[in-house]
Amino acid sequence: MGKTYRAVEITKPGTFHLVERSVVAPGTGQVRIRVEACGVCHSDAATVDAQFPGITYPRVPGHEVIGHIEEVGPGVTTWKVGQRVGVGFFGGEDGTCEACRRGESAYCQNPIMTGITSDGGYAEMMIAEARALALIPDELKSEDAAPLVCAGITTFNALRNSGRANDTVAIQGLGGLGHLGVQYAKKMGFRTVAIGFGPDKEHLAPKLGAHVYIDAKSEDAGVALQKLGGADVILATAPSGAAIASLLPGLKVRGKLVVVGVSGDPIPINGGPLIFGGRSVIGSLTGRAIENQDTLDFSVLTDVRPMIETLPLAKAEEAYKRMMSSEARFRMVLKMA
Ligand SMILES: [Zn+2]
Ligand SMILES: [Zn+2]
Repeated sequence: MGKTYRAVEITKPGTFHLVERSVVAPGTGQVRIRVEACGVCHSDAATVDAQFPGITYPRVPGHEVIGHIEEVGPGVTTWKVGQRVGVGFFGGEDGTCEACRRGESAYCQNPIMTGITSDGGYAEMMIAEARALALIPDELKSEDAAPLVCAGITTFNALRNSGRANDTVAIQGLGGLGHLGVQYAKKMGFRTVAIGFGPDKEHLAPKLGAHVYIDAKSEDAGVALQKLGGADVILATAPSGAAIASLLPGLKVRGKLVVVGVSGDPIPINGGPLIFGGRSVIGSLTGRAIENQDTLDFSVLTDVRPMIETLPLAKAEEAYKRMMSSEARFRMVLKMA
């Protein structure tokens, strides 16, 4: 084992530095991972562009981390050296806040956020909390598994917690989140509607499993959904509050609009359709480590894979910019070797 490893540090907002760091031993309850792949996510802006309040530098971003365990720290009994594991956005719950005490650890109010409050996976090595690990099935390549532990679980959990087989489920947006959402919706047995903006991705919708494509640029998506009988669930992945709100009239009575993409602008909601129809707008945030394992297992079982572009660690800045400017088709992944 080398005594140093390469990592990409953010030293101030927008500034990437490739550095050599000394290898450290994992502490109590931790493991050291030899990183093989790390996805690049919009949420990395929390670190890179200082969108997370109180972020401290230098910080290594990255919360879609896949690699092999190289060393386990004291007290780690359920993981061993050599296992291939993944770490997502949740780097570990505190176990003591009210949400945790009520069994809602995915909504821990004081969590470790990988790559934000602790160093993440834009690096050849990473220290992770053992309780945040998911086991990677052998059938998945590390670069394919990486986006699944964030974008994957986000859409997988939101959908499986919201719909039932044969429900009409619409996925707004066919980007990094949406292209996975459409695949999961189809494989979960939903009548799957893909909502895009313009005709460019229409050809992709049936390939991902959508039964219907709606072009929200050429027609009102809410009206189009009502023509189909309305949606039981709409998964909103587009980072636009106005676009999200425009879908509300497309819901059936008791339908749910599930928001997983953070928009810069507010979501303007009219109370009428909410009340006259008992409709709801809810949020959903990734999930727990064991749910990440569910996401990975389901992806193998039903053959769901992300569409990715890969770049080496030294090109992290280029990968980040490509993802932020929506040029990536559809997720960027850093491959370490
Ligand atoms: Zn993410
Ligand atoms: Zn907690």
